[in-house]
Amino acid sequence: LEVTGAPIFSEGRKWKGVVLVFHDISELKHLEQMRKDFVANVSHELKTPITSIRGFSETLLDGAMKDEKMLEQFLQIILKESGRLQSLIQDLLELSKLEREDFHLNIESVDVQRLLHDLLPIVEQHAEQKGVHLRSSVEGETIIRGDSSRLKQVFMNLLANAINYSRDDGEVSLQFEEKEDKVIVSVSDNGVGIPEDEVPRIFERFYRVDKARSRNSGGTGLGLAIVKHIIEAHHGNISVESVVDQGTTFYVEIPKKFTEN
Ligand code: ADP
Repeated sequence: LEVTGAPIFSEGRKWKGVVLVFHDISELKHLEQMRKDFVANVSHELKTPITSIRGFSETLLDGAMKDEKMLEQFLQIILKESGRLQSLIQDLLELSKLEREDFHLNIESVDVQRLLHDLLPIVEQHAEQKGVHLRSSVEGETIIRGDSSRLKQVFMNLLANAINYSRDDGEVSLQFEEKEDKVIVSVSDNGVGIPEDEVPRIFERFYRVDKARSRNSGGTGLGLAIVKHIIEAHHGNISVESVVDQGTTFYVEIPKKFTEN
C-alpha cells in the first residue's frame, strides 16, 4: 500500500485536516516480481545448456577428441544441448510475439476435424518411439473460424505433452465433440498425472512438475503458456482434469464463430 497525504487549511490559514490517498500497489508489485522471476528463469534456462556445451567442447579440445568414442558421444551431447537452446529461443520469441499489443490471429475458415486428423501422422512417430498407442474419434468435417496454424500449434503441443508424460505402453486419445456454438477437443493420456495443487500452475511460464522429466523430453516449460495464449486469443477456454498415476485430460473449447474484441 502506498500512501500520499496533503494538509487542508481553512481561510484563516487554520489547519483543518489532511487528505490521505491510498494506492493499492500490490498488483504492480506482483507484476514487477513476475517480471523479475521471468528474467531469472530465462537466464537459468539458457545457462544450463551453455555450461554443458562449453564443458564438453573444452574437454574435447583438451585431448578427449583423440578417442573416437568420446568424440562421438560428446558431439551428440553438444548437438542435443544446442537443440535445447534453439527450442527455448523459439518458444521465447513465440511468447513475446503473442504478447505484443498489435498481435492478431489470421482468422479464416478452418475444418478443425481435418486439422486434427492431419496432425496424427505427424505425432505417430513420436508415439511409436515411446511405445504409446494413439486413438482418435476424429472423423468428418466441422468448419469454424480460427487461425489454422496457431490451432495446429495448440494441439501439437497437447499431443506431444500427452505422449511425453505417458508410460510405456500407454494410450493417448484425441476426442472431438460439437456443442451448440462451440467445439470441444480433448487430449487424454493415462500417464503420470499432475498433483491437484499444481494443476493451476502448469500454465505459468517455466512451471514444471518434474523438471528432469520435462528437460529430458526436450520440453522448454513454455508450451502450455503458449497454448493458453492462443486459445484465449480465440476467446476459447482450456481446462484440465488429472489424477496422479492415472492420467490427464486437457479440454479445449473454441467458439465456432470468431468475434472481434
Ligand atoms: P514442458 O515443456 O515442460 O512440457 P509445458 O508448458 O508444456 O512444458 O507443461 C508444463 C508442465 O505441465 C510440464 O512440465 C509437466 O509437468 C506438466 N504437464 C503438461 N502436460 C502434462 C500431461 N499430459 N501429463 C502430466 N503432466 C503434464
